[in-house]
Amino acid sequence: MARQEFKDPALRDEIFKWNARQLIRGVSGVEIVEAHQADRLAGRVYYCENCKFCHTDRSPYFQIDHLVPDKQFRGTRQQSNIWQNAIILCASIGKKTYGCNQTKQDRNWPPPYAGLARSCPELDLNWMPMHLRDANTIWP
Ligand SMILES: [Zn+2]
Repeated sequence: MARQEFKDPALRDEIFKWNARQLIRGVSGVEIVEAHQADRLAGRVYYCENCKFCHTDRSPYFQIDHLVPDKQFRGTRQQSNIWQNAIILCASIGKKTYGCNQTKQDRNWPPPYAGLARSCPELDLNWMPMHLRDANTIWP
């Protein structure tokens, strides 16, 4: 089965817009700094669905990944739904920044040390302290 790479620009745009719309409604563990509330309400702030790092710039801070590795669907009749299987994760922006997407690799979820929220807090538009973000709740 071909791997879904989320390369279609229109699909990528829809997935990012869906992510930003979650912030308009409100996401547990996210409180956007006052200076960017207008951006949040206009759908211009995105968030990492693991560490809850928030920023207005899709690139270079975020990537679309598979919630469940497609290899888990191999050999089954099950098809992964491209929407249900899309997740937005933060991306490494330099050495030792441990983007959630890069540290996840073939795991189901990034390790507890992952995230730009931890490595680059000065860039994070989310002021919620890490211990209140309920990140990594799926990590065993
Ligand atoms: Zn992250």
